[in-house]
Amino acid sequence: MLQSIRRDSYKRKVLSYKYRRLFKRAYRLLDISPLKDGGDCGLLCGRKCCKPMEELGIYLMPNERHALHGSEGKFRWERQKRGYFLQCDGVCDRKSRPMQCRVYPLMPIIGLNGLMFIRNPMGGCPIGKSDINPEFIRRCFKAYKLILRNSKLLRFYYRR
Ligand code: SF4
Ligand code: SF4
Repeated sequence: MLQSIRRDSYKRKVLSYKYRRLFKRAYRLLDISPLKDGGDCGLLCGRKCCKPMEELGIYLMPNERHALHGSEGKFRWERQKRGYFLQCDGVCDRKSRPMQCRVYPLMPIIGLNGLMFIRNPMGGCPIGKSDINPEFIRRCFKAYKLILRNSKLLRFYYRR
């Protein structure tokens, strides 16, 4: 009995380490401004996409919470049927932003042609097609291709 508890706890630690490493690699790729000229795009619009809205939030990717460990106080998250649902107060430690926030104003979808990104899915983002940093787009593809090699994470996108 005790041995099985230890085995389970060991497995959980290995899993947590594996996902933390994977997401941190993707996060590092996405440490880049979406603006062609660089800088904080939030200054253009008063951080529109971070404005807290009742009922609105994002679902973390499966096991992404392991990479955000230690940031729980800055977000509210609860476990729901579809996964961990995260809400914030519009301010966070930039180092601890989840994937979806890092790629905004792009949003990934997987269609018949594979991985694609929609620009400005919620509307209201002032970054136009000609202002967006091509290196940012390239990194978004690279980061998502990296994490979607994991079948569990890939399934999460197919289910949406
Ligand atoms: S709405 Fe667009 S410009 Fe404004 S903070 Fe979000 S991504 Fe940046
Ligand atoms: S988690 Fe951070 S980056 Fe994402 S919406 Fe909230 S304040 Fe903005």
